[in-house]
Amino acid sequence: MERNKRIILISHCILNQNSVVYPLARAKGAYKDIIIELINNDIGIHQLPCPEYRYLGLKREPMTKEQYDNKNFRNINKRIANDTVIVIKEYLSNGYEVLGIIGINESPTCGINGNKGILMEELIYILNKENIQLKHIDVPTDYYDGEKGNKFMAELNNLIK
Ligand code: SF4
Repeated sequence: MERNKRIILISHCILNQNSVVYPLARAKGAYKDIIIELINNDIGIHQLPCPEYRYLGLKREPMTKEQYDNKNFRNINKRIANDTVIVIKEYLSNGYEVLGIIGINESPTCGINGNKGILMEELIYILNKENIQLKHIDVPTDYYDGEKGNKFMAELNNLIK
């Protein structure tokens, strides 16, 4: 089977809402509309780890970026960012297209647009050092599968088509 060689990076909880802070889950499992759109376009999905889950597990309370911003949590994110850039470089050097990154708007860890989350700060910092420019979009805070997600789905289609 010939590969499509098109890859997208997504924040962990787009595929797995079970990882988010109680009671913020907006789907029972994955954001189906987003994932089905990626699958229907034959795009390979690289799921980033969930740093907050790694750091504080499932029973964590909602916290601000300032509350998360300590050495231990930064180090977790630096390691994830380093690993991710190694993965991205391998794809790029083998002729794959890395379409971009989908983050989670206003997340203290995974927000990309506006006030960046800690993981995205670390990831974009290393990507810039490596002269790798990737497009990125955020799932908005009011996204739900179905009609409410239509605006975001248009943005997603711009990114992947
Ligand atoms: S936004 Fe990031 S840190 Fe928060 S639940 Fe999703 S993947 Fe985990």
